[in-house]
Amino acid sequence: MAKCIECGKWGAFLKVTKEGLCHSCEIERILAENRDFHISRCYHANLPNNYVFFLGLDDRFKRFAICVQPINERFRLAFFNYHDLLDFRMEKSETTLNRCNTLMMSIYLNSLVNPQMTFYFVNTPVQIGSDTYNYAVQSANDVYGFLTYIRHNT
Ligand SMILES: [Zn+2]
Repeated sequence: MAKCIECGKWGAFLKVTKEGLCHSCEIERILAENRDFHISRCYHANLPNNYVFFLGLDDRFKRFAICVQPINERFRLAFFNYHDLLDFRMEKSETTLNRCNTLMMSIYLNSLVNPQMTFYFVNTPVQIGSDTYNYAVQSANDVYGFLTYIRHNT
């Protein structure tokens, strides 16, 4: 079971970097190097295939830092203003045999470089009611909540 050397958080779903930091602590370390960004809230979720999702908010300057990438790569954050968030959608596949096949989120950004981010919380059939399913749904709802917050605070 992984444990973060910085905040002490641990758990079956927790992943840590080579340096032993959880995602939240790693993102805070990176953002601390960027003095213009004052992190007020941040969120991370583990995605299938060892991908991770990060979102950090700067309420003072109404900016957010976001990334979706493999956990074992160096974090590459993209910065946007709150008003760059154009739209976001969560899509869930029809369930078959008590299994959820896909749970996906698309985020549309006002950017020439990266106008849309699409990623999966579930991308292989997962038993409804299992820990994996519950974690995926909770993460998707949390991300949705953060994005709704950004939208309401532009
Ligand atoms: Zn930590």
